[in-house]
Amino acid sequence: MILKGKSAIVTGSTSGIGLGIARRMAAAGADVMLNGSRQPAEAEKLLNEIKAETGARLAYCSADMSKEADRGRLVDETVRAFGKVDVLINNAGIQYVSKVAEFPLDKWNEVLEVNLSSIFDLTRRVLPGMKDRKWGRIINIASVHGLIGSTKKSAYTAAKHGLIGFSKVVALEYCEYGITCNSICPGWVRTPLVEKQIEAIAKEKNIPYEEAVVDLLSEKQPSKQFVTPDQLGGLAVFLASDDAAQLTGVAIPVDGGWTAR
Ligand code: NAD
Repeated sequence: MILKGKSAIVTGSTSGIGLGIARRMAAAGADVMLNGSRQPAEAEKLLNEIKAETGARLAYCSADMSKEADRGRLVDETVRAFGKVDVLINNAGIQYVSKVAEFPLDKWNEVLEVNLSSIFDLTRRVLPGMKDRKWGRIINIASVHGLIGSTKKSAYTAAKHGLIGFSKVVALEYCEYGITCNSICPGWVRTPLVEKQIEAIAKEKNIPYEEAVVDLLSEKQPSKQFVTPDQLGGLAVFLASDDAAQLTGVAIPVDGGWTAR
């Protein structure tokens, strides 16, 4: 229970990587505010499931990270539920795939808003409380696309590179106050976000779905295995722990060797 007494927000935690992280944070004893787009009944079911698994204190807020007022509401509701925000895990993210010349401006703005600007906004809202308490952890779920590029992912790659840069500045500005800020850079993780890309490969190449999975992994990820949300949750728990107090401003690839080549 290394995070007993700590409270955490995990954005976009009703599916995929965020859900894996929320489960591991709860299992480590943290109070966890879940967030994401789900019907209230579904969110309630998820909360009850994780509560039964872990015994942790949990709450849910449906705030939309693309809206400023909602971001304020997420922080306010967490403080109301748990008294403070000790750990902010910025995980909510979206993808849009198109070559640059055809990339719609509204899609560019949407990706930048959710994957980068919203994180600046949430971070600035939680930093004063962390500074007063002289303890805080900001963990940003970036991507291998924060370190290298891939075709058709200009907005996503720009946002994730920007996120790693932003994390370094937060780390430098707040390291004297017991606050760390780091980025996790996953390779392929099998989540709804990636399922869509597998379906697109299957359609484009006219191949069966499972063949498209092999195709996707073989092209980039030398281990030829998906990273799991649970593995990323384990790393997030470590980064939130006191053992990681001097680990700040770094971007950690968890990518089966993708960026080692
Ligand atoms: P996902 O689509 O399964 O989950 C995304 C979550 O974000 C969902 O809970 C969704 O409700 C939430 N979300 C999306 N837009 C939101 C908004 N405006 N407000 C609030 N919540 C919102 O995706 P995932 O694969 O689990 O991705 C999570 C993060 O991990 C993203 O930042 C993504 O860029 C990053 N990532 C994913 C992979 C991968 O292979 N899946 C690899 C590297 C990085």
